[in-house]
Amino acid sequence: MSNCIFCKIVMGEIPGKKIYEDDEMLGFLDINPVAPVHFLVIPKKHINNIMEMETQDTVLLGRLFYKAQELAKQQGCEEKGGRFVINTKTDGGQTVEHLHIHFLGGRSLSWPPG
Ligand code: AMP
Ligand code: ZN
Repeated sequence: MSNCIFCKIVMGEIPGKKIYEDDEMLGFLDINPVAPVHFLVIPKKHINNIMEMETQDTVLLGRLFYKAQELAKQQGCEEKGGRFVINTKTDGGQTVEHLHIHFLGGRSLSWPPG
């Protein structure tokens, strides 16, 4: 999508601190981290949010989560874990309309969210 900030990172039109890339996904550091470890994993394919995923996206979503947990381990969070989050639409606090998995780690996180 031409007006999507994450599609622009995928295309290299705006910079991102990439930590992983392959044909179908990108991992990069969040520009405004809220935990010592905070990165995003996105599909290169534009999907607005998880409620708009289609049947053919199920394998892709599995691969995104598999890579997210690999990256979390690489970033030193294997022992203590962290949180894999997909904010969705208005009530979920989604601000970028391109499906993304957040990983937050490196500190203790409270529950439930505010
Ligand atoms: P959400 O609120 O779940 O839609 O999360 C969007 C996330 O994208 C926020 O945590 C932002 O800090 C992050 N973000 C926005 N623009 C950029 C960017 N150019 N590079 C990296 N992260 C970004
Ligand atoms: Zn996009």
